[in-house]
Amino acid sequence: MKLLLVMPGIYDTDRRLIKNNIMPSIVLYTLASLCPDFVELTIVDENVDQLDITGHYDVVGISVNTLNVIRAYELGDYYRSKRITVILGGIHTSLVPEEARLHGDAIVIGEAETVFPLVLEDCKKGTLQTMYTSQVPVHPDAIPTPRYDLIDFSKYLKLPTRKGPMIPVYISRGCPHDCSFCASTKFWGRNVRYRKTEQIIEDMKKSGSDTFFLIDDNFASNPKKMEEISSALIPLHIRYFAQLDTTIAKHPELIPLLKKSGLYLAYIGFESIHLEDQALIKKQFNKPEVFSNILSLFQRNNINVYASIIFGLENDSLEKMRKTVDFFIERKTSIALFTPLTPYPGTRLYDEMKQKKEIVDEGWWLKLEMTDPLVSLVAYKDKMIDAAALCSDAMKLFYSWASIFRRFFPRGLLNRFSMFFLNVRLRWNYSRDRRFTF
Ligand code: SF4
Repeated sequence: MKLLLVMPGIYDTDRRLIKNNIMPSIVLYTLASLCPDFVELTIVDENVDQLDITGHYDVVGISVNTLNVIRAYELGDYYRSKRITVILGGIHTSLVPEEARLHGDAIVIGEAETVFPLVLEDCKKGTLQTMYTSQVPVHPDAIPTPRYDLIDFSKYLKLPTRKGPMIPVYISRGCPHDCSFCASTKFWGRNVRYRKTEQIIEDMKKSGSDTFFLIDDNFASNPKKMEEISSALIPLHIRYFAQLDTTIAKHPELIPLLKKSGLYLAYIGFESIHLEDQALIKKQFNKPEVFSNILSLFQRNNINVYASIIFGLENDSLEKMRKTVDFFIERKTSIALFTPLTPYPGTRLYDEMKQKKEIVDEGWWLKLEMTDPLVSLVAYKDKMIDAAALCSDAMKLFYSWASIFRRFFPRGLLNRFSMFFLNVRLRWNYSRDRRFTF
């Protein structure tokens, strides 16, 4: 059976696919590891590959997320018109199944591990159902090693001193928090399931690279586990990028260990420097009074921080935005991403905003013009806030030459140079198409 697995690309507003070679998709290579022997597999990642639309396949599997949904449905409709069986999966399919089922012969709801082999068996037997639901969260021991051997390293960005590009690795699934804007916990759940440390190490060794992205939503959700895993990573001499929450402030003793284990860039969702905003997004565990301390702790240990900040909350203003940007510049934050509040489908935020009629367009993800980073999705009654404009101004301020020089000099640290050049590249990319791409 000839199977094509596609990660659709993301369209810009001129309907061009945006290229993004930062790292391969873990989804495609995990699905590849679940394919039985009768499958003849082709993998296409439109972030780096050109899809040959004329290729012949028996089945096409498409991974749908809210950002690539327009292209994903277009591909689904196209292959169905050619009488090729289409299976849709991914987070967006799980969160909006009624919409997704219009573009595929079958949809997969939930994590793929328990159902994907069955879907393929049914395709082979001609007994395909219209919907497959993973009934229970997948046991962490059942998360397979992705088929890293199928990744063509030459397609992805590799830093000069590293053995390979950044490779995504699963440590755990789930996050204990319940931030109202987060689609991730709706999919993976709040019960954090850790894989065995040996299995994680094995995956890293098998990948052939020495640079990783811990794909977990929150590496810091269990400090004991974080300590155990970080200690085990030390002998590997790797470099990695991880996402952490601000409760790391309660465990300052772990930061040197994280550095020793290879943590190079820590993505932290600060969201706002104002306590009242944290309550608006149900992220009360985020305590702005410790943010300075977190940033200096990481800086002292020579770990770069990638701060994520949201604008578009009810009481946001130009003045608040400037204060926020100054806060992160003064604390010499390596990278910052300012994102408009985005009501992802399936989240509590979406439901609340929909009820209050605060979403400009309730099906925004299906309209190309609404995916423009300069279009705000939030329509507050007083129309005082344009979240996208605030973010755009914040990006310009944060990646201004004055800010870049203030944040990186005089820091006297050699390894800051790569971050400096990354900032210059981000500045250039952002001024070119207003998108935050590496
Ligand atoms: S901490 Fe991050 S992953 Fe966890 S619920 Fe909040 S936004 Fe989602």
